[in-house]
Amino acid sequence: MKRIYFDYASTSPIDKDVLKTISNTSGAIFGNPSSIHQIGQIASKTIFEAKKSIASAIGAKYNEIIFTSGATEANNLVILGTYNYFIKNNNKRPHIITTQTEHESILEPLKSIEPYCDITYIPVSKDGLIDLNFLTSAIKENTILISVIMANNETGTIAPIKEISKIIKEFSARDGSSLGGKINKSSIYPLLHTDASQALQFININVEELGIDLLTLSAHKIYGPKGIGLLYAKNLLPKNNKTLNSPINPIILGGGQEFGFRSGTEDVPKIAGFQKSIEINEKIKKQNYKKIKELNNYFIKRLKNIHQNLEINGQDLSSNKRIPNIVNIYIPEKDKESLLISMDLKGVCASSGSACASRANKESGVLKSMGFNEERINQSIRFSFGKFTNKKEIDESIKIIENITK
Ligand code: PMP
Repeated sequence: MKRIYFDYASTSPIDKDVLKTISNTSGAIFGNPSSIHQIGQIASKTIFEAKKSIASAIGAKYNEIIFTSGATEANNLVILGTYNYFIKNNNKRPHIITTQTEHESILEPLKSIEPYCDITYIPVSKDGLIDLNFLTSAIKENTILISVIMANNETGTIAPIKEISKIIKEFSARDGSSLGGKINKSSIYPLLHTDASQALQFININVEELGIDLLTLSAHKIYGPKGIGLLYAKNLLPKNNKTLNSPINPIILGGGQEFGFRSGTEDVPKIAGFQKSIEINEKIKKQNYKKIKELNNYFIKRLKNIHQNLEINGQDLSSNKRIPNIVNIYIPEKDKESLLISMDLKGVCASSGSACASRANKESGVLKSMGFNEERINQSIRFSFGKFTNKKEIDESIKIIENITK
């Protein structure tokens, strides 16, 4: 049976040029990047080139990139690493601010330190936007980290990262407000982190311009390999050109790879594949945005002809506060489980939200925090499109959905 894939937000199929890069690199570049000899140095140079290229795509420097096993690990490194660094160097109880709509890889590590750390969860409105006034008044003298997802993986809603960094700057400029008690304008806290795993495909990201200290990316959301991601970490501590000086303690200890922030022999082919996927994405970003937005609009328009009472959870399709590929829809009286299963039996793959939450069979915390009741959550599903989606697939899926639900 032909399958129609509308679940790009959970993962994307690998780009054929990325695959080629990975297979070329796998065969030829097998050395351990930490080895001093030539074979090792070739591998090390491949990583260096990847860091330079990726860093330039997000306005960073090569020595601010830490490769990880994915966005989950990068997010864990942010939460646990900044927390551990702070408590080792200070005797205060830290405070972290985040939102109710973060990915599990932020929320779960936060849960693990909850007994020892104050945590504030910023609420969101019905359309998925965070309350900036709430955020402004939540920042305290002991706030070490503010972590806000750039584009939500369930609804596609974009957070105003630049405004948040402005709020942090204004707070830090206030007399006596920074960590350290009295006037301490050189304080590095609060740090600003954003998980941009879903965002990079469509949004031009410049960490300097946006005022971001820490940023998470994952390759498999942009047609790259699974099992590779990164953390951008700004050099915030006293400078040394070659190493990364960030207020983070590593969570994986060993041989000291990745500037000491993530031990373990690097997966060079996946790193090269990640680089290639970002290079391709940067080239097609604008046209991809336009194409996917049109397809999403077309899908919803056609679906509304069948289900006039359908509603979108989150930002309206015309809003610029959303990425164009994700649409979370509520179809009254259509149970999500049976709809997803019936669609799957006919070859249409969609999902009920985050794949990680589905695995744990959890109800969507994102929709719940937006104020939707259980009934609506149980009748809501997420469609997400990608660069390989075409109009024919949408037409076919609409026919299938019509047959199943009429
Ligand atoms: N953050 C977000 C926003 C995501 O969508 C995902 C993937 N579901 C992750 C983190 C986890 O990414 P990875 O699979 O690379 O660990």
